[in-house]
Amino acid sequence: MSSTTETRLLQEIDARRDALAALCADLIRIPTLNPPGTNYREICEFLAKRLEAAGFSVELIRAEGAPADSEQHPRWNLVARHEGTAPGECVHFNSHHDVVEVGHGWTVDPFGGEVRDGRVYGRGACDMKGGLAASVIAAEAFITACPNYRGAIEISATADEESGGYGGVAYLAEKGYFDPARVQHVIIPEPLNKDRICLGHRGVWWAEIETKGRIAHGSMPFLGDCAVRHMGAVIAEMEETLFPALMERRTEMPVVPEGARNATLNINAIHGGEPEQDKDYTGLPAPCVPDRCQITIDRRFLIEEELDNVKAEITALMERVRAARPGFDYEIRDLFEVQPTMTDRDAPIVQSVERAIRQVMAKDPDFVVSPGTYDQKHIDRIGKLKNCIAYGPGILDLAHQPDEWVGIDDMADSAKVMALTLAELLAAERRE
Ligand SMILES: [Zn+2]
Repeated sequence: MSSTTETRLLQEIDARRDALAALCADLIRIPTLNPPGTNYREICEFLAKRLEAAGFSVELIRAEGAPADSEQHPRWNLVARHEGTAPGECVHFNSHHDVVEVGHGWTVDPFGGEVRDGRVYGRGACDMKGGLAASVIAAEAFITACPNYRGAIEISATADEESGGYGGVAYLAEKGYFDPARVQHVIIPEPLNKDRICLGHRGVWWAEIETKGRIAHGSMPFLGDCAVRHMGAVIAEMEETLFPALMERRTEMPVVPEGARNATLNINAIHGGEPEQDKDYTGLPAPCVPDRCQITIDRRFLIEEELDNVKAEITALMERVRAARPGFDYEIRDLFEVQPTMTDRDAPIVQSVERAIRQVMAKDPDFVVSPGTYDQKHIDRIGKLKNCIAYGPGILDLAHQPDEWVGIDDMADSAKVMALTLAELLAAERRE
């Protein structure tokens, strides 16, 4: 890419600064709340109109039969493709269009798209309508500045990332939209900060553990068998042996924040005995020995760990408790699992974005790995596409918070990085 092309591209983005803020605000004004999944069709149609005007061909795809898809709340996705003037590779920007619930504590209208003091405010501003807007502006600027490029640009806006991505990227990946023959490079503009490249995420295993007992009258607990006490023994064993072992296990993955560089376990919930009564119930509880107790565990594992071993470690722990407690019985039920993934530092998309960040921000990027998962898991596992990163504007800590915002400068800078990346990967004249 020549330096005149670069200068031209950066000017094109600067000229679109207000348009970028306006686009982000317009996207925020379409409340795509998930759950339940509102206005998915509306946001896809809004983007379709915009991208068609820029010369994209657009498909609206409903994830029919996906979890949560219904006539009332259909799971709509958009895939838009712009062809260059010669064959080449395809760079795909994937953003989720859903946002999480509003919650309390807002001082601005969460769906007002207010632009003030260099920021755009609203639910989804940083996670991730700001990143989606930046990728649209980057593509529009690139197409204007470099009309004769090789290959293709794709932009997708997908449903349900916040609830697992099954009505969005997972569905599209199943249908072949992320087939490496069709798409070669993927950027997911999640809010990881404009100077950081996110290579992947840790693994996840969710499971429910149940201890079993025998119900009896609470005044004669010796006639029953208390499942909650059995669970107490399980948690004590975790404190004694498992948590210290996990603290010892460190990954080579550059996970942020630092604390997530360990293997971790969270006990998400515990339930035992009589179910909770409604708030308006004014009576007393009944005296019973609990015959069931359940915990839900959220185990995040490292690329150095094997999922089979992660599961076997819990079974071994349960067996140690069994050996020490007469009558102890339990069950473990798998709920959800995701393998860890980390894109190679030498992958072409990583290298291109790295160079672009140096150019735009005059600094080396930080390489990070996310403590939790995002849609890269589906692109990796179902799509079999490894050349994928998350890169986008916004401060991750603001995601899902009240008064969520994204900085206009941050969006513009990351749009520049995206546009320079397009220029490098889709250049008409390949660099030697
Ligand atoms: Zn997100």
